[in-house]
Amino acid sequence: MKTQTGIRQKISTNGKSNGYRTHGKLKTSIWEYSKSVEDSKHIQLKSEYDLFIGGKRIKTKKYFDTINPSNEEVIAKVAYASDEDVNKAVNAAAKAYDKVWSKISAKERSKYIFRIARILQEKAREFAVIESMDGGKPVKESKSVDVPLAIAHFFYYAGWADKLELAFPGRKVSPLGVAGQIIPWNFPLLMAAWKIAPALACGNTVVIKSAETTPLTLYKLAEVIEEAELPEGVVNIISGDGATGAAIVRHPKTKKIAFTGSTEVGKIIMRQTAGTDKKLTLELGGKAANIIFEDAPVDAAIEGIINGIYFNQGHVCCAGSRLLVQESIKDIVIKKLKHRLKSLRVGDPLDKNTDVGAINSKMQLNKITELVQSGIDEGAKIYQSECQLPSRGYWFRPTFFTDVAQSHRIAGEEIFGPVLSILTFRTPAEAVEKANNTCYGLSAGVWTDKGSKIFKVLSKIRAGVVWSNTYNKFNPASPFGGYKESGFGREGGKHGLEGYVK
Ligand code: ADP
Repeated sequence: MKTQTGIRQKISTNGKSNGYRTHGKLKTSIWEYSKSVEDSKHIQLKSEYDLFIGGKRIKTKKYFDTINPSNEEVIAKVAYASDEDVNKAVNAAAKAYDKVWSKISAKERSKYIFRIARILQEKAREFAVIESMDGGKPVKESKSVDVPLAIAHFFYYAGWADKLELAFPGRKVSPLGVAGQIIPWNFPLLMAAWKIAPALACGNTVVIKSAETTPLTLYKLAEVIEEAELPEGVVNIISGDGATGAAIVRHPKTKKIAFTGSTEVGKIIMRQTAGTDKKLTLELGGKAANIIFEDAPVDAAIEGIINGIYFNQGHVCCAGSRLLVQESIKDIVIKKLKHRLKSLRVGDPLDKNTDVGAINSKMQLNKITELVQSGIDEGAKIYQSECQLPSRGYWFRPTFFTDVAQSHRIAGEEIFGPVLSILTFRTPAEAVEKANNTCYGLSAGVWTDKGSKIFKVLSKIRAGVVWSNTYNKFNPASPFGGYKESGFGREGGKHGLEGYVK
């Protein structure tokens, strides 16, 4: 039977494809909820978005569509920034730096950042709905994670702006100038906050580019920045593709490049900035191990596994995409996971009951489908949720693989989708070895009842962020970043200031 468009394999479910079981004539469903759709009438969107440069809306030669991935409808047209437009944006930021931002007091800078946070708070619901429309993520997540965390980052760095001498005791630091910032599509507003807030706090001005498929919340942020009355050109917001990003990296006046995205592009940027005076931080891919020991609280761990891989459709660089489960509890964990998958509600991102939303783009859906097919072809066993999928839009069923070998592509490559690869281990040493057997080193999780085991295991894992008995928890005061091919530099916390000063 067909489990998912384009994937050929008999699935190990009860064989029904739509989440319903029929008993004679009686049709029963699993966890049926009435729809509870977030109201989008109050959302103020334009049909066309221009670049935000030097405090003004700048028209461009080319515009592109941004679509809603849950129904494939065009939401708005968005300006495409050419090399010439990037040049305008960087010059506006350089002028704002020279004439205004480098001259005002740290306390003033703090005030502006604080204002952004306060205005965002007032518009939190609108931002959450737009983020879900443009990116496909469940509104429950954009409301409780993306938007509040973005706000928290602005508040947090507003606090640091006039206390830099405490962050760098015994050192005299100064800003770098224009920060060029390039962000991905999985957490648009949040990534913008991670980058803009520390840059401004340290006294830099900004040119930031949204990702191809998710430009809208950044242009809404431009409205917030105007409302906060930031001096013109301190924050410039543009949209475009890889070529636009490359123009930011190349520009001689960008003195700092902050990039979050794929390892592949991170390597290109590193090559381009080598030998220049640009400071660089890279936050790249990941293939995190989520390690479950036999003494772990299994039910809690199941929730951690679900949150680790199905949160934001698995479009998360620190996702717990490799589950390492101790062999003695493998069967019970898989049984409970199958059961839990049945109650994951996949569908309309604006429905408040939705757990797993739409895949961000057709391109990403194709990538996930291709990697899942490779898992099947290489001999791993697939299990997929039986849920009904909407007929339009980009969707992928929550999926996991058992019988995964370390040599399989699904064990080594970042899938960036709701797909979990399950491997087993017998001893803590084997768990550590397998966890570290990756080119990445962004995050990891460990589940056990023993505190000493947590410290012993996690201290041997080469990952920038580790969680114990929980997963995917974020806080603006806590630094985030990777080792190895997951990049370098930290964002968040006091460490996050380091990348924006000399
Ligand atoms: P993904 O594969 O998740 O889309 P990418 O690394 O391709 O990740 O994209 C992340 C961000 O980097 C996007 O904003 C994209 O436009 C930008 N980008 C892509 N290629 C380049 C490049 N060569 N130089 C600078 N930015 C780029």
